[in-house]
Amino acid sequence: MPFTAKVFTTAQWGARDADVDEFELTKPMYVVIHNTGDSNPPNDRSKGTLPGAKQLAKETQAFHMDGNGWADSGHNFLNTTGGFILEGRHGTLGAVQKGLCVRSAHAAQDAGKLARGNESPGIEVEGNFMTFTMGQKQWDALVELCVSLCSSCNIAPENIRGHRDFSDTDCPGDLLYSQLPKLRQDVAAKLGLAPISDVLKLGSKGSAVQKLQVALNAKGFNVGVADGIFGDVTRKAVIDFQKKQGLTPDGVVGPKTRKLLGL
Ligand SMILES: [Zn+2]
Repeated sequence: MPFTAKVFTTAQWGARDADVDEFELTKPMYVVIHNTGDSNPPNDRSKGTLPGAKQLAKETQAFHMDGNGWADSGHNFLNTTGGFILEGRHGTLGAVQKGLCVRSAHAAQDAGKLARGNESPGIEVEGNFMTFTMGQKQWDALVELCVSLCSSCNIAPENIRGHRDFSDTDCPGDLLYSQLPKLRQDVAAKLGLAPISDVLKLGSKGSAVQKLQVALNAKGFNVGVADGIFGDVTRKAVIDFQKKQGLTPDGVVGPKTRKLLGL
């Protein structure tokens, strides 16, 4: 699927030049969701307009460069209340359209947290979502951007994560963070993928795994007692079944494997 999200480039919103000629290209593994921490509607800084969105991008870049001492905007994209998407760090749009990203400064790794945040596109979502849920326009734009990024950079929707997964921070706010499972599902659906909870793999548990085990046993791929726990034996049986069917033997039960098992 091509990159379809409409993005206003740094040239289109009138960004300042970065302090370096170009940034290192990285291979992204995640999409990292942030909030800007600004007021929510009706007091949102961009006022839901395109001129307001461009102004917010300029002020955020100035804060990152003059306040934080960074070489450019720290994030890769800004998503404003009016549903506008603006490129952050220079070179981002061209990079992600080629499956890469530019190293940024939005999600440093703290102890015990996920790594490689700054090698992955970071999206600043305008607002502070501790007690506020975003409106539909902003949500739709966020979904569209994540669909494009997951598609062009080959990132699994499960890997759409929040800043707090990488760093000791409350970002993104509680209500936005609690919407991330829905964001992953909406993105998976738009990419034509099975609902994430329906994918069974090593570590999965429950009645769906039990049904899978019964189906494998019935087809002669013996897993022993159907205990509802997807362990190594079940994984090996799935791989054997996938090989026999000419599927990619990844041991993960997605839509194709599921269908051939009659589940
Ligand atoms: Zn953040």
